[in-house]
Order: sequence, then structure tokens, then C-alpha cells
Amino acid sequence: MREEKLFPSWPVWDEEDVEAVSSVVRSGNWWCGAPLEQVGENVWEFQKEFARFQEAKHCVAVANGTVAIETVLLALGVGMGDEVIVSDYTFVASASAVVAVNAVPVFCDIDPETLVLDVDKFESLITARTRAVIAVHLGGNPVEMDRLCEKASKNGLKVVEDCAHAQGSRYRGKHAGNWGDAGTFSFQASKVLTAGEGGAIVCNDDLLAERIYSVSDCGRKPGKYFYSHFEYGTNYRLPELSAALLRSQLKKLPAQHALRNENARYLADRLNSIDGITVMKPTDGAEEIGYYIYPFIFDPSKFENITKEGFKRKLNENGIPTDDCYPPLHRLTCFRESLLREKIDYTQANWGGNKSDDALFPVVSDIYERSIQLPHYVLLADRGKLDYIAQTIEHIRY
Ligand SMILES: *Cc1c(COP(=O)(O)O)cnc(C)c1O
Repeated sequence: MREEKLFPSWPVWDEEDVEAVSSVVRSGNWWCGAPLEQVGENVWEFQKEFARFQEAKHCVAVANGTVAIETVLLALGVGMGDEVIVSDYTFVASASAVVAVNAVPVFCDIDPETLVLDVDKFESLITARTRAVIAVHLGGNPVEMDRLCEKASKNGLKVVEDCAHAQGSRYRGKHAGNWGDAGTFSFQASKVLTAGEGGAIVCNDDLLAERIYSVSDCGRKPGKYFYSHFEYGTNYRLPELSAALLRSQLKKLPAQHALRNENARYLADRLNSIDGITVMKPTDGAEEIGYYIYPFIFDPSKFENITKEGFKRKLNENGIPTDDCYPPLHRLTCFRESLLREKIDYTQANWGGNKSDDALFPVVSDIYERSIQLPHYVLLADRGKLDYIAQTIEHIRY
């Protein structure tokens, strides 16, 4: 309970949010309709507003961040037997979306400092079957997208950016989501922009954007008769009520994003000066970071060989909230024991049985054991609280 007094809780909401949702209820327009026959306005307006925020040409709102990835893969024609390279350090959705389209995820180890996909290792995983790569901007820290896109295009691979953590992230002058073929976002409850559930896809290619829309809305095409269906598509639409809440939350995001970036730099200076603590290093070229999580790595030998659980417990006892880290994908039961889709051949994957040994994913396996994540709302606290975090961590050593 001390936790709630010390740090802001999440989500942050006010009467404007209540009014946004209530006004949809009162209007009776609880559904968005179709591009030519719009019923509600919130989904359509949210798509424009989020595209503007991310400086993207197109945005298609969808039900959640998982189906956002699935939709893009379907629209790109990635499917049966194709290999898709995914960072090993991410939420399961980055890989389960690949499984959902009958493709085979291949896991790539991470860079020990930036904690995102190691672009050189990515290159070594490319085979004749590889069709795409999913670049996950963990904690909003961008993958080196210029190098990744160059290597991908040389090998004829599609690039999907999983931007679930990267609202507002900007790398070498361009927002996350605009480097690859498309970028996917999640608005699930813990994310920095949320309506409890929700997702979006950004894309700068007119034809691909149309296909993405089509997959997410029953195979329809904008401007065509409502009951004509041109290809396989399903219903992944974002609810109108959720869009209304996202629109009012989006108004608050730029100020929160700026504060998080400012506070992240301040806290990094404090924490990096503690012997045995290293904060996730912003990728060279990262100009803004979404900071969904704020990870730091500790050296157990400098903290009397404390375990990760012990470290977290000490922080929590002192009122500092922590997030759980994602176990590396290669360790998850569904992959280690290949408990996925029947009739799909996973034998070419680089995981399952002995191939899931930690020794084959050395960086992420080590990082996972000694990293701690602070949730993003900690970065909305005042400087005094950030000093308190640094002081508490300094004392854990004694
Ligand atoms: C949250 C998240 C997703 C999936 O989003 P949902 O909206 O929960 O389906 C995908 N990738 C990453 C990295 C995430 O953190």
C-alpha cells in the first residue's frame, strides 16, 4: 500500500475521459461502421490522430496488439512454413502472432547493452525460408532500424516493427513504426497509451495499408459495397467506445512522454553512477524513447550475490514498484516442448528440446537473471522520488 502513496498509479484518467466514453453511450453510435458509411466518428478520428502523433501516412485501429501483428503478417502474405525472425526478449505475442499465421518463429539473441535485437546475429539466422523479421523495440528502445532494414532488403525480407512499447520513440529522425513495412501498437492496460485493450497498425504504403484494413475488416475494401468481400479477412476492429477513450488519453500522452524522457535521463545519470548498476543503454541514434519499461542490470557480485527476486523484494518493501521481466521466448513451455499447431513442421526452428538450451541464447539468458524493470509510471514521479529510488538501490548493497 505504501507503493500507491509514493508513486502515481496507472492509468491516469480524469473527467475528460469519463465524458468521452459517456458521450458515445449517449449518442447511440456504438459502432464505427465502414469507411463510406461511418456510424461513430471515434475510430476514424483516432486513426487520423494516432497517425499524426506517429508521423505515419496511414493508421488502421484494431482490437489489440497481438492481432495487429497477425494482421500485418497476413497482409504481407507471410504464412505456411515461412520463417520469421523475432527477438528472443519480448512478450509472447511477438512470436505467437507468427504461429497464428502458420509460420515458424526463429529467435534472435539481443545486444547486452541496448537489450534489443542484435542485428549481426539476425543476419546469421537468415535462411532460404526466411520471409520477415519482427523488430521489437523493447522498453521503447529502438532496434538499429537503418542497419536492420538494409540487411532485410538485401535478403528480400519484410520488416514488421512491434512498437507495443514504442509510442513516440524516434530513431535517426524517424518514428518507430515508419522504418519497416508496418508498425504495430498495443493499447492494453499496462501500456503508455491505453483503453484497457486496443491496438493499431501504422503504414506508409498505400496498397499495403489497404490490405491491412481489408484483413482487419472481413476482407472488405474501402469504397466498395459493404457485403462484398475480396479476400480472407476477419473481424479485428477496434470498438468505438475504446476509440473514444484512446482519443482523450492520446491528448495526455505528449506531456507524459516528454516527462518520461526527461526523468529517464535524470535517473540514468543517478543509477549509472552506482557501482554494479547499468541502465538499458539508449541505442545510438535514439532521439526519443517510449519507455514502457525502464530496465536496469545489476552485477550480483557487487550486491552480496543477491538474486533478482531478492533485489525486487527489497525495492518493493521500500515502496518502489517493479514489473516482471519477460522470460526469454526459447524457455517458454509452448516453444521448448513445441506445443503449438498440429501439422506444422517446427523442426527447422532454432528452439525446442536441446535447441532451447540457454547456452545457445547466452546474452538474453544472462540478462534475464539480473535485470530489473521499473514500470513507466515511475517516470511520471517528481525528482525527489527518483532520488529516493537511487538511494534505495545504493543501500541494497550494504
Ligand atoms: C503488449 C504487447 C503485445 C501485445 O499486445 P496486446 O494488446 O496485449 O495483444 C505485443 N508485443 C509486445 C512487446 C507487448 O508488450
